[in-house]
Amino acid sequence: MTSTAKIGDLLAKRRTLSFEFFPPATSKGVEQLNRTLADLSVLNPAFVSVTTGAGGSKTDTTRDVVIEMQQKSPFPVMAHLTCAQHNRKQIRALLDSYSSSGVFNILALAGDPPEEAEAVAALEREESDEAASSTLRYASELVAEIRNHSVVFGIGVAAHPEVHPRSTSRQADRRYLAEKLAAADFAITQFFFDKAHYLRLREELAALGCYKPIIPGIMPVTSPDRIAHFANMNGTEIDRQLWDRLEPATTQDRHKIATDYAITQCQELLAESAPGIHLYSMNQSQICVSILKEIHTL
Ligand code: FAD
Repeated sequence: MTSTAKIGDLLAKRRTLSFEFFPPATSKGVEQLNRTLADLSVLNPAFVSVTTGAGGSKTDTTRDVVIEMQQKSPFPVMAHLTCAQHNRKQIRALLDSYSSSGVFNILALAGDPPEEAEAVAALEREESDEAASSTLRYASELVAEIRNHSVVFGIGVAAHPEVHPRSTSRQADRRYLAEKLAAADFAITQFFFDKAHYLRLREELAALGCYKPIIPGIMPVTSPDRIAHFANMNGTEIDRQLWDRLEPATTQDRHKIATDYAITQCQELLAESAPGIHLYSMNQSQICVSILKEIHTL
C-alpha cells in the first residue's frame, strides 16, 4: 500500500480498517494525537482521516495536520473538507495544496455552520449573485467541484443511516445520498448502535441502484454524556440498555463495557459483509487497540 493510493481502489481489493482523528487545539493535544497515531499505525490501517471545522470553527488546523500526518505515514490520510467553511476559491486552493503534498483523498461534506454564520451566508447568497456562485451548499456540489479539479482525487462522502436531521423525508434523504454517491467512490456512515439502521440504509440504496461501498462508522462509548450529546445532534438513537450499564460504571468497567459492545458491533457488521470498519478514535488509541485485538477478519 502507498500513501497516495485512492481509498476506492483499496476498497475494491479488500476490507479496510480506518481511524478518524480531529485536529488538536493545544500543544498537549498535539502530543496526544502523535502518540495515538504511533499506537494505531502499528495496526496497519488502510487509511486514516482528519475532521475539519468541529463545532463550526473556521480556524482549525486540519490542513497542516493532514499534510504533516501524510508525510510520516505509509497509508493514505484523508482530509475532511466542508462547504460550510470555504468558498469555491478557497476549496480550489486547498485542493492544490493537498495534491502538491501527496494528499489524494478527500471526504466531501456539507458541514454544519454555526447558526450565526449560516444566517450571514444565507443573506450573502440572497444579496449577491457572485456570492451565490462562489458558495457551495450541499456535499454533492463539493464532490462536483473536486471532480472538476485538474488532479484526480479519491472522494468519500457521509451517509446517515438514521436519516440526516435536515432531510425533509426518508425518500428524499436516500435519493440525494444515492445521487451524491454516484459521483463519489464510497461513503462512511454517521455512528449508530442498532445494525438494522445500517442494513436498511444499504437496502434502500440498492433499491435505487446504488452499490458503492458504505463503511460503517463505529463510535466506542467511553464517555456516555459526550456521545449522548453527539447522538442528539445527529438524530442517532442511543442504546438505552448500553447507557444503563455505562452510567453507573467505574472508568475501568466503562472501558470494558464499551470495548465489548464495539467488538460485537464490528463482528456483526463484518458478518453482514460490511466493506470495512471506520473507528471514531476521539484521538484515543487504547480502546481502538483493545477492540481490534478481537477483530480478526479485517
Ligand atoms: P449533504 O449530503 O449535503 O446533506 C445535507 C442535507 O441536505 C441532507 O438532509 C440531504 O438529504 C439534503 N440534501 C442534499 N442534497 C440536496 C439537494 N440537492 N437539495 C435539497 N436537499 C439536499 N462535519 C464537519 O463539520 N466536519 C467534519 O469533519 C465532519 N466529518 C464527518 C464525517 C462523517 C463520517 C460523517 C458521517 C459526518 C461528518 N460531519 C462533519 C458532519 C456533516 O458535515 C453533517 O452531518 C452535515 O450536516 C451534513 O453533511 P453531508 O455531507 O451529509 O450533507
